[in-house]
Amino acid sequence: MERILTIKRVPTVVSNYQENASSDDLKSKAQGCGRNCLGKCCLPVSKLLLYCFKNAEHERVEDFCGSCDGGCPQMSFLNNLLLGQWEDRMSRGLFRYDVTSCETKVLPGKYGFIAQLNEGRHLKKRPTEFRIDKVLQPFDENKFNFTKVGQEEVLFRFEPSKDDKSHYIPSSPLDSEECSPTVVAINVSPIEYGHVLLIPRVLNCFPQRIDSESLLLAFHLAKEASDPFFRVGYNSLGAFATINHLHFQAYYLAVPFPIEKAPTCRIMSSKGPYETRVTVSKLLSYPVRGLVFDGGCKLRDLCDAVASSCISLQSNNIPFNLLISDCGKRIFLLPQCYAEKQAHGEVDRDLLDTQVNPAVWEICGHIVLKRRKDYDEASEQYAWRLLAEVSLSEEKFQEVKSFVREAANLQSEEEYISMQEGRYDSTTLQVASHLPQDCLVLH
Ligand SMILES: [Zn+2]
Repeated sequence: MERILTIKRVPTVVSNYQENASSDDLKSKAQGCGRNCLGKCCLPVSKLLLYCFKNAEHERVEDFCGSCDGGCPQMSFLNNLLLGQWEDRMSRGLFRYDVTSCETKVLPGKYGFIAQLNEGRHLKKRPTEFRIDKVLQPFDENKFNFTKVGQEEVLFRFEPSKDDKSHYIPSSPLDSEECSPTVVAINVSPIEYGHVLLIPRVLNCFPQRIDSESLLLAFHLAKEASDPFFRVGYNSLGAFATINHLHFQAYYLAVPFPIEKAPTCRIMSSKGPYETRVTVSKLLSYPVRGLVFDGGCKLRDLCDAVASSCISLQSNNIPFNLLISDCGKRIFLLPQCYAEKQAHGEVDRDLLDTQVNPAVWEICGHIVLKRRKDYDEASEQYAWRLLAEVSLSEEKFQEVKSFVREAANLQSEEEYISMQEGRYDSTTLQVASHLPQDCLVLH
């Protein structure tokens, strides 16, 4: 008999429709429900706000915001819309607690881990059993999913523009081609200001797994927000996603995440001219082993490299978290094994007692604590210990690197340099001078 690995944890309530509805209840309401939900019954006749993002064929990674020409210093239109709508939902009392009153501090030390005391997030929920040994699991319509959410939790639809400009249309009915819209909704258990969910093609009922088209939507959201403090994150199943319906999360945090400040070393790059290459680096002196993607010329190229890598991890059943940072220009891919260790009883009791689930935000250095005592005692040493438990072993990480190299069709930098040495002696030094100091020692 197959042994199923599970862990028990208190699930996060991301929608007000998640708590009370039993699955029978949800089923009976699945048609013509008059509840103004996001299902097939109500969505096609909805009149949600519509934000159309700039969708030029060759949208570049670099050129800055979508709502004005050139690098604009003022707030992007998308930011204004998102935060205005978010605050409106706050004033309507849709959140489960007031996140603006949660205490936050930067832990003393070299890395600047950020601790938040959030006592409201996990109250009133019993632990649930989660299967953690399968990164790909089929969508189950009888479980909570985002088609059950009420439209008041949705801030706007997020769709590609039909020309190469961004647009905003208040109250736009769905046209027949877009019968499964992408929406941005609030997370009713926010961990920071502006915490939202991006749900690609909600009526398609995709399970939680990365595909290139959906990931590109997340890149566009990060790019159009054009605010380096706005990050988009993703948790796979087995890496602390609680809902098996495709979604990304995003919020604003006005300090750098420790992971964004970690030194990196280039290890792989895509083929082709130097300036247009997607490069992949590994994190140095950070408790979690991870890869950082950047470069590339077109948004689509960078996105495809990340998507192919994620798809490969998914099919090799390796749980991971993803952070889209720097307006879609830098992406952190973090394979992890905490839940697996937890299921095998290999995580220390005192770490488990804090009930911190190391998902994308924790791994990147923003640690949400549930108990006053843990918050008061939190230290850089604690953060490091927790995150070290998340990290793959060096051996397993090597395996991930080779999956990524193959899936995204990359060459390793060592190879590249030796290839260049073979062909053009004089350019080798020039290439090496692009690399950070740590990379000069090549193995
Ligand atoms: Zn409905």
